[in-house]
Order: sequence, then C-alpha cells, then structure tokens
Amino acid sequence: MSTPSSQARIAVIGTGGTIAGAGSADPGSAAYRSAVVSVAGLLAAVPGLARLAELQAEQLFQIDSADFTDAHLLQLARRVAELCARDDVDGVVVTHGTDTMEETAYLLHLTVPTAKPIVLTGAMRPGTALAADGPANLLHAVAVAAHPTSGGRGVLVVMNEEVHSARDVAKGHTQRLDAFASPHGPLGLVVEGAPRWYRAVARPHTARTEFDLAAIGALPLVGVVAGHGNARREPCEAWAAAGARAIVLAGVGGGTVPADLQPVLRDLRRRGVHVVRASRTGAGPVIRNASFDDDACGSVAADDQNPPRARLLAALALTRADDAQAMQRIFLRY
Ligand code: ASP
Repeated sequence: MSTPSSQARIAVIGTGGTIAGAGSADPGSAAYRSAVVSVAGLLAAVPGLARLAELQAEQLFQIDSADFTDAHLLQLARRVAELCARDDVDGVVVTHGTDTMEETAYLLHLTVPTAKPIVLTGAMRPGTALAADGPANLLHAVAVAAHPTSGGRGVLVVMNEEVHSARDVAKGHTQRLDAFASPHGPLGLVVEGAPRWYRAVARPHTARTEFDLAAIGALPLVGVVAGHGNARREPCEAWAAAGARAIVLAGVGGGTVPADLQPVLRDLRRRGVHVVRASRTGAGPVIRNASFDDDACGSVAADDQNPPRARLLAALALTRADDAQAMQRIFLRY
C-alpha cells in the first residue's frame, strides 16, 4: 500500500457541529455548546497534521448541523466543487456536525463533479471532553483526503477509525463513538494513519452523475412523513399545502402503506405531488409494487435509501424531470 504524500494540498472547510463544540469535560454530558471553535483552532489542536498535508482552512458556516437548510447544502456543494476544480487543491475535508452529516455527504456525493477525495468528519464529543474524539477524527480525515488511493471513491465519511461511503452511512446512536455505520459495512479502516480499503461503492457518484450543480438554482421542496401506527393523512396534506413537489413516506417495514393512507397517496399523485416509499428500518430495499401498487398510484420505491437521503435524491431527480418513471430510474441507479 502506498504511503501518504507530504505534498498533498488539502482544503479544510469548517461548518460547526460538536467537533467545534466546548463545554463540559464529562464525556457523557450534553452540557456544551456546539459550533464555537474555529476550524483554524481545530487544526491547531491536532499534533502531526502539518506533516500529513499542506492545509488551507476556511470557515464557511459555524452552525449546529440541525440548522442546515437546502441553501446551506448548495452553498457548501458549490464551494467544494470550486476548490476541487483548482490545480492547487488535491482534496477537501469538511468538518460538520454529526446529526445531519449523512445528508450533506450524500448531496456532495451526487453533485460535486470530481475524482478528488472529499471527506467529511465530526465528533460525538466536544473538544473539552475527556477522550474527545474530534482530534483523531480530523487527523484521520486529513490522512484519508491526502492519501493517493482515496480518489474516485465518492464522498467519504471518516469517523471512529472507519471510512464510510456517503451513499450508505447513517448516524445510528445518539452518544456512542461508533455512532456511524453502513448497512454493508465501511469501505475501509484507518490503519496506522492510512486508509486500508475493503470494498468499493457500486453506484455512480461525483463526476459520473447526471446532476448538474451549475443548473440547480434551488432544491425543490420535498417533505418526509414519518410512518407509524395510527397514521393519519394530515402530515401528507400539510406538505402538499406547503408546496412540496414530493413527499417521502418513511414507511414501516418494507415501505408498507396503511390502508387508510393509500387513497391519500393516490390523491396526492393526481394533484401532481410525487410519492416516494422508503423505510424507517434503516436497511434493506423497498421493492416496487410489493405491498402497494406503485404502478397504479404512480409512486416510486426508494430502493435502499433511508428517508433523509431519499428526500435529497427525490429533490435532485426533480431538477431533471417532473416524471415518476424518471424518478424511479434514478432511485434504482444511484
Ligand atoms: N448537534 C450536533 C450537530 O450535529 C451534534 C454533533 O455534531 O455531534 O451539529
């Protein structure tokens, strides 16, 4: 395996989150404020970083990741794309809150047209906590971004010594350091300060997608409706009234639609609102026409995309065409 290049020039974009948080020293405490330490401060606190790469830091946002809007997502994607297009940048690291990291990573994975490494990282504990995880995560993120084997793999999430694909990864625990997991496992591990790869993502990403950042003014509004027992029509109606172009049903099991909601979804389709059936389980495909007649309704099965990512993929699909068949093709392709 090749060694990291000391020449790699890595741009580090700070956006906030717990990695930039400060407060209690108790590792299990929520008594801290996120998004207070600058990205330059984060880099300065990690010994050995300067030996890994030539770094340039910029603070794009300083927010909790729960506050990310679609406008923040597009602004970040455009900035990452600009940096990746430069000859003096070999890779980009984004520091980010963990709560919505999987959404940001996925949007970048589908829209930034580059083969250069883009790596997101964050922390489950603020820098003031005993055994804070941010410094090691940042060190590993830079090591992965600077490594000559990391290009062309799509957007990566480096947390807790694992390297995940933005297509699959999700935060699955509120507190633990191993909060991030992918249904099919990570792409690789960080071993002795370098990425060691075990698998590659099969679906198109970055430079090989059909989504064109330059042509996207704003993302179409897509709402997510939680699936649960005693489901009611009101959340679906509220999204339609708000002007949503599509709703993603975070359905129970394999995307099963309760009998009472079935006519509601058909009605939404007749009114031009797209319906995407996803699953709240966190893994496994939603299969077209299984337990619901997607052909008759004109709805879309989300394959294995979780509801937050299905929201983004539906919005991107709508930037291409207002067409359920085209959207279904996109869900099976990406
Ligand atoms: N609330 C924080 C955020 O997502 C949590 C974290 O970063 O771990 O910004």
